[in-house]
Amino acid sequence: MSVDVLASGAVCLGTNVVCDGFVPGYAFRVQTHLHDDHMAYFERSKGLQDLFMSPESFALLVAERNADLEYRTNLHPVPRGTTCELGDGFRLTLLASSHMLGACQVALVLPNGLRVGYSGDFGWPLDEVIEVDELVVDSTYGSPESIRHYTPADAEHCLISLVCERLRYGSVHVKAYRGTIERVLHLLGGDVGAPILATRQLIREAAVYRNHGFAAEGLVALDSADGRAAVRGRCYVRLYSKGDGFEKEQIEGTSVTISAYMADRMDPLTTYSDWAYKVALSNHADFNGTMAYVEATKARTVVTDNTRNHGCELALAIKNRLGIDAEPSSNRLGPRWR
Ligand SMILES: [Zn+2]
Repeated sequence: MSVDVLASGAVCLGTNVVCDGFVPGYAFRVQTHLHDDHMAYFERSKGLQDLFMSPESFALLVAERNADLEYRTNLHPVPRGTTCELGDGFRLTLLASSHMLGACQVALVLPNGLRVGYSGDFGWPLDEVIEVDELVVDSTYGSPESIRHYTPADAEHCLISLVCERLRYGSVHVKAYRGTIERVLHLLGGDVGAPILATRQLIREAAVYRNHGFAAEGLVALDSADGRAAVRGRCYVRLYSKGDGFEKEQIEGTSVTISAYMADRMDPLTTYSDWAYKVALSNHADFNGTMAYVEATKARTVVTDNTRNHGCELALAIKNRLGIDAEPSSNRLGPRWR
């Protein structure tokens, strides 16, 4: 087998390409997306490897780190759907994975012709799926317990009506992961009849989304005159994302957390109290979506990512239900073929 996931979460595709991590001696890193748990050793990679990512991920990185990134010659934006030669006979193709802006699946043809790939974090359904011989698949919702009995549209509708309803009683504070918070903005923007407030950092990030065709209009900066007036009037929605201090700030009004983790399987809404809710708007495929994805890749061998969640259960299900050879990742410290 030519693919594996190491203890650090680094996904090895053959002997010279690693996704979302750093491996000594590997020349190439592919960055599937920018969530923190996929950014391990990014600075080290930047110094030592050639890095490949979608142009959208590149734009987000520049917006976030405003460092020397734009001028580095070892960072290579690869438009999704195109194939690029990495050198040494490796051919790389990135396809969208419907997870956050810029997120991609990775297909790689090795010099010996073997087609290997990594799903990255992915939503389901997808317009295009990589076709590979050996696949590493994300296992976030890899447990057969993780089947959602409602559609993404149900969850979206639930969020919009909850926010509109709770605005009658004061401000509403919505917290979500990167990538999901922009989806929230997309959903709520212009529809809730109240200003939507955010930090300037989040507004900068939303601008990148807007430049890439997302409707992410209408955010008001917290520290602007309009923002301060809205806070005084207590009729506003505040969005929180990475580093925005949701836990630390005194929150008046209603809090809404966006997460599908441990959510009810039948209902996207969890009610903690009149003032606290969770809505299961997910940017990950559920168990059925994950199985459908694996089938669509036509992989003959599958390694489930067992460094994050449910790798063992998923490998078993792929073997038993799809009849495809599957095993959990080794989580070794270094590549097993060395
Ligand atoms: Zn992610």
